[in-house]
Amino acid sequence: MKRGRRPKWMLKIARERIDILFKLAEEFFEKHPERADRYVEMARNIATKYNIRMPGIWKRRFCKNCNKFLKPGSNCQIRLRDSCVAIKCLNCGNVINIPYIKERKDKRRKTIESYIIKKRIDE
Ligand SMILES: [Zn+2]
Repeated sequence: MKRGRRPKWMLKIARERIDILFKLAEEFFEKHPERADRYVEMARNIATKYNIRMPGIWKRRFCKNCNKFLKPGSNCQIRLRDSCVAIKCLNCGNVINIPYIKERKDKRRKTIESYIIKKRIDE
């Protein structure tokens, strides 16, 4: 399946930018929450523009509904439900559900896959 026509290096830079923006958001959240929200917005714009999936670690750190940066214990509530992490944005009440068992399985599968690929190259 073809996905976009952006060269790989461009996607790499875009991913790095998303990472930097979220780190900045984290840093500024306490003193300048409005700036943190702006960084989230910028990161989301980049992700949309380059058709990049939000990295797992940051996926749960912002509200898809109101674009606010979320900090556990500050402006969001985290609940564990069955095999899901439910993150509630205290600003707009939106709940983000993240299935964590699936994520773990995906991670494990990826590790196995990369191991198989490596083995093939070695042979
Ligand atoms: Zn929200």
